[in-house]
Amino acid sequence: MRCSFCGRTENEVKLMMPGYNGCICNDCAEMAHNIVKEQLGKNEMAALDDINLDQIPKPIQIKEYLDEYVIGQESAKKYLSVAVYNHYKRLSQSKDDVDIEKSNIIIVGPTGTGKTLLAKTIAKLLKVPFAIVDATVLTEAGYVGEDIESLLVRLLAACDYNVAEAERGIVFIDEIDKIARKSDNPSITRDVSGEGVQQGLLKLLEGSVVNVPPQGGRKHPEQKMIAVDTKNILFICGGAFEGIERKIAMRLNTHVVGYGAGNHVSKAEQDKLLHYVAPQDLRSYGLIPEIIGRLPVVTNLEPLDREALRRILVEPKNAIVRQYEKLMKMDGIKFSVTDDALDFIVDKAIEYKLGARGLRSIFETIMMDAMYNYPSTKKKKFELTLDYAREQLDKSNFAIIASSL
Ligand code: ADP
Repeated sequence: MRCSFCGRTENEVKLMMPGYNGCICNDCAEMAHNIVKEQLGKNEMAALDDINLDQIPKPIQIKEYLDEYVIGQESAKKYLSVAVYNHYKRLSQSKDDVDIEKSNIIIVGPTGTGKTLLAKTIAKLLKVPFAIVDATVLTEAGYVGEDIESLLVRLLAACDYNVAEAERGIVFIDEIDKIARKSDNPSITRDVSGEGVQQGLLKLLEGSVVNVPPQGGRKHPEQKMIAVDTKNILFICGGAFEGIERKIAMRLNTHVVGYGAGNHVSKAEQDKLLHYVAPQDLRSYGLIPEIIGRLPVVTNLEPLDREALRRILVEPKNAIVRQYEKLMKMDGIKFSVTDDALDFIVDKAIEYKLGARGLRSIFETIMMDAMYNYPSTKKKKFELTLDYAREQLDKSNFAIIASSL
């Protein structure tokens, strides 16, 4: 056998792969792979250079795509869809008198209700580089932590350090509430994750040229820096802003006559209050006004009720039930689950206060034995029933683990 590309024989190379009408050796295969990567990479970049709005999904299509993966959260999905679409518009705008400014977004909502999921899902759809970063890693110089520029390192990494691409990317900053100024911490000397970090972030949001250390982490004087202009980078921020309902209630009290007393807000009312979240509330929470000014779009996520949790188990494209169907199908086993077993799992997630995140761990605990034993049996069917689910969960030490979470 001879390689059809370089002509060497089987003995001269490490590996020879026969094809339909010839062979290829490992060296030529590798070279071909590099050429493909290089060529396709270029084409994709070329596509980025002139964004054609006709080829970009419209907000309604973006939302439809989000609907396939994320349950509920209608208003956040809508806001995100418009923001992303407008981001593309900005990138393709002609240079005239009217300059479309970017509208960074802030999403307020309890943890585990889909902020990261929304960000990740939208990233799958996008043709611009996208990075998810956590604001909790940021502290100020002098304290252990990362500098604000490190937020951009991920974005650079997402596009193989192609600066031009990174400069039109989207960054999702999670847990932005963790850098809010704490009003109950009046110390002026220790401002760990306080206003200083916010000032740094402001620089990024406003749009400025930032020197980014290529490896991330802390800066070294001798390190070569990469200059990134953040003018066209869209920032989407997310945070739980725990207790912000009180700020909203207080504000509404002063404006709405007869609104219920601020101190006695029921859980249901609290959940509803989040709908009314406005920039002023973020300010009372401790974000500096300049930052809020740079996050003009405020939207909220709903807490997930029983019905939403139930839907999350089965409806999304990669719902956990579908994943188990696939896992078992690969062993030739047909997987099904009864309605009451699903209800049971939802009840347990609520009981242990684990929310949507708990659904997966409960499901996995219940399925452990079956996943261990079934591949070695000849059985062709597995039905997850209420009795089985209850038995497996009781048998495990899930209750103990869950109560310590
Ligand atoms: P957070 O709001 O804290 O960022 P996540 O997006 O990480 O929450 O959600 C945690 C997990 O819970 C996700 O991986 C997803 O499986 C599930 N989940 C949460 N909210 C939803 C939702 N609205 N629709 C579908 N799955 C959800």
